[in-house]
Amino acid sequence: MTTLSDLEAQATRHKPAFGEHAHILCDNLVRIYKTEGVEVVALQGLDLLIEKGELIAIVGASGSGKSTLLNVLSGLDIPTAGLARVAGMDLLSMTAKDRLHYRRSVVGFIWQQTARNLLPYLTARENVMLPMKLAGKKAGRDRADELLELLGVADCAPRRPGQMSGGEQQRVAIAVALANSPEVILADEPTGELDSDTSEEVFGALRRANRELGVTAVIVTHDPLVSEQVDRTVGIRDGRTSSETLRRTSEDGDVIAEEYAVLDRVGRLQLPRDFTNALEMERRVRLELERDHIGVWPAGAGEENGE
Ligand code: ADP
Ligand code: MG
Repeated sequence: MTTLSDLEAQATRHKPAFGEHAHILCDNLVRIYKTEGVEVVALQGLDLLIEKGELIAIVGASGSGKSTLLNVLSGLDIPTAGLARVAGMDLLSMTAKDRLHYRRSVVGFIWQQTARNLLPYLTARENVMLPMKLAGKKAGRDRADELLELLGVADCAPRRPGQMSGGEQQRVAIAVALANSPEVILADEPTGELDSDTSEEVFGALRRANRELGVTAVIVTHDPLVSEQVDRTVGIRDGRTSSETLRRTSEDGDVIAEEYAVLDRVGRLQLPRDFTNALEMERRVRLELERDHIGVWPAGAGEENGE
């Protein structure tokens, strides 16, 4: 006799593990900060899958956990629980030696504060050569110049950060992040201190790095128009992924960005707060399966008259 648990076992056997082939995998990621006895849950069971070579933006209100997520992915911070894997490396269990290698050669990072990305007493070229030296590679002057060229800042090579504009400094910072040919680059609000024209140039440079070098790029941003420029925009709310906007080009060549809610593996869904507020939905809702959609009603609505 086939029991229910046999069927379940069979079903899991044929189903690949969650995110088995993803380049970046976060599975039920939790990060709790403890300060003076108070716990702040910055990530509360975040799931995220990113394919190799994708260019994605992460958006969300201040305090939603974006920087916490990027710090985990960069190997700077260790999550409290869950699974985080990048390019096949497990970020929770790796050794100190692996972590150092990971941070030098597998990921590149760009901070919002332009001053934090570059050493002020080195030229742009020397800044790009520095990570190669630290990784024990022959300092590649030619490679540094190639990267600066790719990002449109070749003329900055002999200049120090103080002699460059904010946008130029951020583009040089991208070259620094790319110096050791990482698999992934992470940028935390790289255009946060820049005006919109300059932001556009920095974004263009990130896109070029993604397209020309095939590097997977994850960019945290406040700019709502960014979703038209990336493959996918992931919205984070309260430490969880809540929405995804996919960009596609219509038949007549228009770029269309469509927003979806994220459905997690066990079927959980986050309803947008303005929707639930508009219908005064709280704590409980009534669901109904229709032929081609699922209806969600405020608890109590339509129940009495058997609607
Ligand atoms: P975002 O980058 O989206 O603005 P963060 O990841 O910086 O959000 O923060 C998420 C939450 O975690 C916030 O409530 C923040 O106050 C808290 N937090 C972040 N870093 C720390 C820390 N080092 N110690 C304590 N709480 C923190
Ligand atoms: Mg932040």
